[in-house]
Amino acid sequence: MGKYNEIEKKKMAYPIEEDPYYVDRCDLAATFRWFARLDMHEGIANHFSYAVSTDGSKFLMNPNALHFSRVRASDLILIDANDPSTMNRPDAPDPTAWAIHGSIHRNHENARCLMHLHPHYATALASLKDNTMYPVDQNTMRFFNRVSVDGGFDGMGVGDEAERLATTLGDNRVLMMGNHGVLTLARTIAQAFDEMYYFERSARNYITALQTGKPLSIVNDEVAEKTAQQWEAFDNSALHLQQVREILDSEGADYKN
Ligand SMILES: [Zn+2]
Repeated sequence: MGKYNEIEKKKMAYPIEEDPYYVDRCDLAATFRWFARLDMHEGIANHFSYAVSTDGSKFLMNPNALHFSRVRASDLILIDANDPSTMNRPDAPDPTAWAIHGSIHRNHENARCLMHLHPHYATALASLKDNTMYPVDQNTMRFFNRVSVDGGFDGMGVGDEAERLATTLGDNRVLMMGNHGVLTLARTIAQAFDEMYYFERSARNYITALQTGKPLSIVNDEVAEKTAQQWEAFDNSALHLQQVREILDSEGADYKN
């Protein structure tokens, strides 16, 4: 049993399976495992969170310095933004992550789940002067006019980043963080997961097309918008996450512990 499980189990004093948020914990733990497998992780950095209170003040989040490939349901810590003692826990995430996630959970009613990563292709896109991902295939069309862009990077976790990001987001489910990475949000863990997965896949297609040096075949706005709406009408996210969980279950289901 890992250090984090020991800390959490002592605090809980009951089996993790009896935790009121056990299903959410398992879903979220599975997404960490999967993004590690897809090499979309950043070692022990980056955070995912899921709000369990309607005002967004209480949320599950990965603890400090635990590798994505090892996250278990019981490792996720329950943060209460109104309880300063949460910060004193030995496994408390860094204050910046807490501030950013807390601020977005509180300010956006659709932001029940937040995922932040620095995946290869999305971060390459974030490094370009023009971060626009033009609609060149079905995946990129999913995000047509649906990405907010933050161009205010001014160092790691300094200044008023939390406030700035929460304001920049608007109604979109993807925030391209210029010179940094990407953030997705949704009402469910499965949707935020699916959005992150497809955003990185789209960026991969788009950056690969750019790398050929040949002119892009950008579809017109009407086709791009129609395709984006088709994506929205065809939400397969729950089935996607279910398949991921079944694969992990077939390998021993350690993430559920
Ligand atoms: Zn980051």
